[in-house]
Amino acid sequence: MGAYHLPADARFTCRSCTNCCRHWTVTVPDEERARLAAHDWAAEDPALAGATLFDAAPAGPGGAARYTIHLKGDGACPFLAPDGRCRVHARFGARAKPLVCQIFPFTFTETPGATFVGMRFACPTVTRGEGAPIAAERESVKDLARAFAKELGGRAPAATVDAGGGHEIDWRDATAIDAAFATAFDGPEDAPSDLPLATRVERAARLLRQLQDIDLGKIRGNIGEFLELTAGEPTPPDAAPADAGAGAAVRPPRAGERLLFRRFLNLLVLREYRGQTGGVGLRWRAFLDSLHVHFERGSLPLAGLPSPVPLSAVPSVASPVTEPAVAELLARFVRVRRHAKAYIAGGFHAWGQLAGLGFLLLTLPALCWFARASAAARGATTTALDDFRFAAVYLDFTLGASDLFDRASVRLQLAPLVAPDAALRLFQWLAR
Ligand code: SF4
Repeated sequence: MGAYHLPADARFTCRSCTNCCRHWTVTVPDEERARLAAHDWAAEDPALAGATLFDAAPAGPGGAARYTIHLKGDGACPFLAPDGRCRVHARFGARAKPLVCQIFPFTFTETPGATFVGMRFACPTVTRGEGAPIAAERESVKDLARAFAKELGGRAPAATVDAGGGHEIDWRDATAIDAAFATAFDGPEDAPSDLPLATRVERAARLLRQLQDIDLGKIRGNIGEFLELTAGEPTPPDAAPADAGAGAAVRPPRAGERLLFRRFLNLLVLREYRGQTGGVGLRWRAFLDSLHVHFERGSLPLAGLPSPVPLSAVPSVASPVTEPAVAELLARFVRVRRHAKAYIAGGFHAWGQLAGLGFLLLTLPALCWFARASAAARGATTTALDDFRFAAVYLDFTLGASDLFDRASVRLQLAPLVAPDAALRLFQWLAR
């Protein structure tokens, strides 16, 4: 393992909320399955007598047999005890838990010579930014990264990065793009931005537009120098106003973009049905949910909300992002995911770097929409910080759990939406 990068200012202490013990797909290698299956769990909980604990899963690297933990009907892990404790942890210690469980909420992305640590906002504690600074746990997080790399079979990271548009670039170029996005959105490392979020989104969108408008093949190997030379160039005339925010005139998204955005929301919501078995009834419910989201009519149950969302109320909910705590959460959501390189190549459904960064910007209007949905579900007409927290947990879990974004057809469909101007317009439209 080379250089090792933690996200700046990240905090985490597990609060044992058990969120990550429900609805997650936990994959284990055969030896881990055998070790866990050898214990007499029924002696600890008679309800586990004869229960299915594992299902066969697609083989891992090198054809190694793998299994997933068989979740109970309510989505809970069978090893989760009624008191909220993990039976495996309680019986054999933290290091006996499946590696996926030990790692959560951290993620690790290997690049040549460096490992980047990310954090899952699906953990409510991470979303709240609570707990001890993870810098204090640097060595134990590093041990987890090593164990994770070992489980992956020590595969070397790809030597190049798919930038999109058929351009393979080296990591030096990819890192230059990443750093330029970070500066545009977060400000320079030594002087973090205190600009309004809308302006930061606009700056990042401008950078992506610039990169999409040039032939990357011609500047391959020198992308960093190109970005240095062109930094601070004026905004092209069709760009949105620089200080668009609450109360400012904004260009609404185009009708096609709004339609595609609802398709995107549909894909996110459909995650709730992935991996479930329920035959025709389940498919019918998924179909109805899709129709409801598409036409913004009817009600939509969302995991984590106590009551269904009245969809026709969502457009009229105000969701300003000017409150400092809301702006901080949204900016952190983008910053941590970008830092983790979770948007590059295999880290994000193999979308390519520029589309991955466009997708990162697109998560902002999605967060606003789910925050509005949360507010509408409780009958409010304006979002509050907790609505955005719900949105961050929901969206992060969905993005990590859905395999729908792996599909080339979905990538093609959503391509106009991850174009930087579309994401910017949608954000300005929904962040009001
Ligand atoms: S979701 Fe986070 S706080 Fe809750 S049990 Fe899992 S790691 Fe702990």
